[in-house]
Amino acid sequence: MALKLAIVGRPNVGKSTLFNRLAGQKLAIVDDQPGVTRDRRFGVGRLGDLDLELIDTAGFEDVTDESLESRMRAQTELAIDEADVSLFVIDARDGVTPLDEVFAEILRKRDKPVVLAANKAEGRAGDNGILEAYGLGLGEPVPISAEHGEGMADLYAALTAVG
Ligand code: GDP
Ligand code: MG
Repeated sequence: MALKLAIVGRPNVGKSTLFNRLAGQKLAIVDDQPGVTRDRRFGVGRLGDLDLELIDTAGFEDVTDESLESRMRAQTELAIDEADVSLFVIDARDGVTPLDEVFAEILRKRDKPVVLAANKAEGRAGDNGILEAYGLGLGEPVPISAEHGEGMADLYAALTAVG
């Protein structure tokens, strides 16, 4: 059985890069629903021997109005509810930002498994951010580089441990 994985987090942390790395194949999605539903992207993938159904949360990058946060919140909550496990992605180079805290709060309130990934951790530039990530109260951060494919074995171990 496939593990349903929602990739959540603020814009620009590397969610879609990770989605693309994990997704072997995009699912054709017939989507006639407006708003938050349209902002999600679905795919299937594989990590080790784990079959994944992926949900990428996206579509806010161009939104600048005040509805941004409420739309992000709604879309993230939908994705979390659909998934078995949420993969919360932060940017290890930026460290923990106030917007990351908003997402962490959403995730802590829902009683579902979360894996915290500290992306852009190639090299040592993310070391401080990885340390800060422990403060989010979502368990041990998994350092990864979606772009370079680093940390995927640790991500696998974390996903199989909570899922
Ligand atoms: P999203 O908005 O969370 O979906 O983020 P994207 O996947 O669109 O990535 C945002 C930016 O971060 C892009 O310029 C990516 O190339 C870059 N990025 C993604 N993953 C990594 C990584 O592992 N390391 C570095 N250095 N940059 C990354
Ligand atoms: Mg994206």
